[in-house]
Amino acid sequence: LTNPAFHSYAPEGDTRAIADRVKTGAYGAVVFAASATGKDLAPRVAARLGRSLVQDITDVSVVSGSVIAIRPVYAGKALLKVRVAGTPAVLSLRPNVFTPVQRPKAGAQETVAVDGSGGRVVVKQIKAAPAGTLDVAEASIIVSGGRGLKEPGNFKVLVELAAAFAGRAAVGASRAVVDAGWRPHADQVGQTGKTVSPTLYVAVGISGAIQHLAGMRTSKVIVAINKDKDAPIFKVADYGIVGDLFEVVPTLTAEIQKLHG
Ligand SMILES: Cc1cc2nc3c(=O)[nH]c(=O)nc-3n(C[C@H](O)[C@H](O)[C@H](O)COP(=O)(O)OP(=O)(O)OC[C@H]3O[C@@H](n4cnc5c(N)ncnc54)[C@H](O)[C@@H]3O)c2cc1C
Repeated sequence: LTNPAFHSYAPEGDTRAIADRVKTGAYGAVVFAASATGKDLAPRVAARLGRSLVQDITDVSVVSGSVIAIRPVYAGKALLKVRVAGTPAVLSLRPNVFTPVQRPKAGAQETVAVDGSGGRVVVKQIKAAPAGTLDVAEASIIVSGGRGLKEPGNFKVLVELAAAFAGRAAVGASRAVVDAGWRPHADQVGQTGKTVSPTLYVAVGISGAIQHLAGMRTSKVIVAINKDKDAPIFKVADYGIVGDLFEVVPTLTAEIQKLHG
């Protein structure tokens, strides 16, 4: 954007700009990412338009002219099917769930001028994570550890496994180890942490409590490593390894290192 007031996310200005634009046309849907910014912006725009918001959806279709969206509820235990009455439908999509596809009928991109100020709320500083660390919400591969790691120092086996994926993997954590102070809250996956949908999620020494599953069950491929064959994590896993993580993980790391040369 050329208007300097909009260089960073401007909650009030962005809301006004988007809502005003939507009001100028007969749009069928307004779509946001359910990212940190999208979760703040989408409800503001919906309220300004006087429309309901269907948040954090994992599937969408159009049936007889109505938008039908699917969204996980009760920590992912059930899926709610929502039919949006009227237009525009205001939706936010769970990140990484939808695979971009090439459409033969491409939409046209328009650039519009936005005047005025960004509003009263101004982003003054963005504190980036230390260089080299990937955010779990952004990584295409996540290697997460739980209480089965036994002590914070043992997370080095997961850091090594993540490193074997050549910079594409982040290290995540269950709440048990975050509450114990072993890992930062920014790494927590689950109902009270981050919702992630990576291409590959490796759960190591994590039992698979419903609150953890709520944050990762939409991952494309789930691998679980746990010494308890009855651990609930195996119910959502595509691949399960029953064994001692301190034997399994170093072997896995060595094999992945071979693949990446
Ligand atoms: C309101 C609320 C919100 C919550 N939000 C979250 C959340 O956002 N995220 C979250 O994760 N949890 C959340 N929880 C907590 C959740 O209920 C569980 O307590 C937590 O996920 C358990 O963490 P864990 O799997 O690491 O530990 P445990 O349940 O103790 O599991 C440890 C696992 O490690 C295995 N293990 C032990 N040793 C080894 C070994 N040597 N090799 C292999 N496996 C081994 C064990 O078999 C066990 O399955 C929430 C709870 C509540 C009530």
